[in-house]
Amino acid sequence: MRILIFGQTIGSGDHFLICSRYTLFTILAFRELLLPHVTPHLDIVVLPSSPLTDSLAWQHSSDGKLFAKQAKLFLTPAAPALHWPNLIWRSCIPPSHAFIFWRLFHGKMPTDKNLRDRGCVTISVCNFCMKTDESSVHLFLCCPFVMELWSWIGGKLNYVLNLIYVISLIAFVPTHCSSQAADIYVSVVVHTLHIIWLSRNSMRFSPNVVSLHAAKVPLQAVVSLSGNMYVGHCLLSNIPLLDAFFVAPHHRRFKDIITVHWKAPTPPWMKVNTDGLVVGNHVACGGLFRDHLGTFLGAFTCNLGIASVFSSEIQGFIFTLEFAAQNGWSNL
Ligand SMILES: [Zn+2]
Repeated sequence: MRILIFGQTIGSGDHFLICSRYTLFTILAFRELLLPHVTPHLDIVVLPSSPLTDSLAWQHSSDGKLFAKQAKLFLTPAAPALHWPNLIWRSCIPPSHAFIFWRLFHGKMPTDKNLRDRGCVTISVCNFCMKTDESSVHLFLCCPFVMELWSWIGGKLNYVLNLIYVISLIAFVPTHCSSQAADIYVSVVVHTLHIIWLSRNSMRFSPNVVSLHAAKVPLQAVVSLSGNMYVGHCLLSNIPLLDAFFVAPHHRRFKDIITVHWKAPTPPWMKVNTDGLVVGNHVACGGLFRDHLGTFLGAFTCNLGIASVFSSEIQGFIFTLEFAAQNGWSNL
């Protein structure tokens, strides 16, 4: 009998299990005091007659062995997977614009509050409203100027944007939508953040005053550019969205039609054509029988459920032979 006891450790703590018959002796000696409720069970245990050697087992691995890879994962766990990086780093969005979103999400934008937190002594005021100090949340989400800009964007998207968190800005992007519509949704958010930052810098470092209209015009242009430069496809239901941002729809093209000739067999032979079909993981097969004049003689189809492409082709061939045998067709 082997008993695993926590706490008999070597090195850095409680991450090893130790297998020891000597630990069992300790428990037996103080069983009345330590484990009164299991004493009856321990009394019926028959100790092994052969000695067992102690061994270490890493409790974070399935086989108890500790390798360098597992040690590295334990000391530096992998970062949680985020869904938004794949959304913003797109070919239709300039990396400099996506970088604004990335810095904002990680709290790395050099707004006055972030500079103060890092020790820079500066006078802070929001250049848009001139009513409060500047922070990332206020500058990009809560300032009356940018809220009016987001409201204009939401009207075009036919959606009320959530301006509580940065990540909530792209939470409205549908999981299942056409690729071109997804580009529009994401590019609108990323470009808006970029325009807000450019407008802020323009007002802070130059005597220019950026109006709301002056922010909308380049935003409209850059979203239209992103939507038109991508080679994705859209659905008919996306037309109002694309029209709102002056994006030309990219409809899916059908592949070139290839002419296929069917050649009749010579009498008295007959011909069967079989094929397999895969939709998702579900496969099916079928066959069509015709004589030397092209006359339809019979056909079959079969739903094979979840199977492979190879299985559908093979089973289609087997069903063809069975179907021909049932009908007495030997000249196949
Ligand atoms: Zn403000």
